[in-house]
Amino acid sequence: MGKGIAGVCGAEPLEPWPGIGLGTGGAPFIRYKPEQRLYPGNLLPGAASIIVLGIGCGRELSYEADEHPRGRFSVGAVGLDYHIALRALLDGLEDTLRKGGYIFECHKSVDTGPLPEKALAVKAGLGWLGRNGLLINDELGSFLNIGYMVTDIELTELESLIPLEIFTEKGRFCGECNRCIKACPGAALIKTDEGTVFDYRKCVSYLTQKKGELAGDERRSIGLRLYGCDACQDACDYNRNAYIGKITDIDYIAPRLDEILNLTKAEYERRYKATAVYWRGLGVLKRNAAAALENWKSYNH
Ligand code: SF4
Ligand code: SF4
Repeated sequence: MGKGIAGVCGAEPLEPWPGIGLGTGGAPFIRYKPEQRLYPGNLLPGAASIIVLGIGCGRELSYEADEHPRGRFSVGAVGLDYHIALRALLDGLEDTLRKGGYIFECHKSVDTGPLPEKALAVKAGLGWLGRNGLLINDELGSFLNIGYMVTDIELTELESLIPLEIFTEKGRFCGECNRCIKACPGAALIKTDEGTVFDYRKCVSYLTQKKGELAGDERRSIGLRLYGCDACQDACDYNRNAYIGKITDIDYIAPRLDEILNLTKAEYERRYKATAVYWRGLGVLKRNAAAALENWKSYNH
């Protein structure tokens, strides 16, 4: 499952963050109203504290390219689906607390809940928000998946139980670095005087997951990507030593495009059911593979 971090914070209403951070620029897979995004008490009456968990998913790529047209998955998209892994951790945590004598109500969420996970993670001391719009932890970088549990247990009680680990050293942050902005293939990260603005409509990760047809410029923008995009994370120095493992199997992370285009439903399920790739379905994956093949041909002629 990899390496994890945990922290705890109070469940008082959150401050709205402009641009990146509070979903104002986020992809519209899940839409919540501000009162749902900002008020943990609307999710769980009597909410007093929030436990935030993060698990690392960064892996170094080490394989020989060959002559076949191949696509690319983001590293977080392959391997055990982080929804499953984080849900198991949260369930285990709840179980441990109950066995420890706590009687409490809770609401657990991974990815699809209304509260802004990155804002909660910052508040719980797990890291800070980088210019790429992602949570950055000094040890695990930005290849992190986050889940949380809102509880009615008092914060002071949990603080002694949950090992709050603050890896952020003052003054590290982004500084003058703009590598992620320069590396972004969709020009989705835009630097402004007020900070970085994220335009989800241009983000390749969003484009590879959205339903329906892609427009011509969207098809070109995704390049060879089949699901997700790691460009803004690969560019970041904070990820240099943040890997939890290595991927050496080219077919695992960069499958042949002809194989994806010919996948049967049964084979798709066998290969991808336990991964995050699965949730968008075979149709979207084949659509992306067809666009990637067009792009591969245009790069090679
Ligand atoms: S995931 Fe890719 S397209 Fe989206 S912001 Fe990062 S680099 Fe840009
Ligand atoms: S690449 Fe540079 S600017 Fe972007 S998040 Fe990393 S340190 Fe910050």
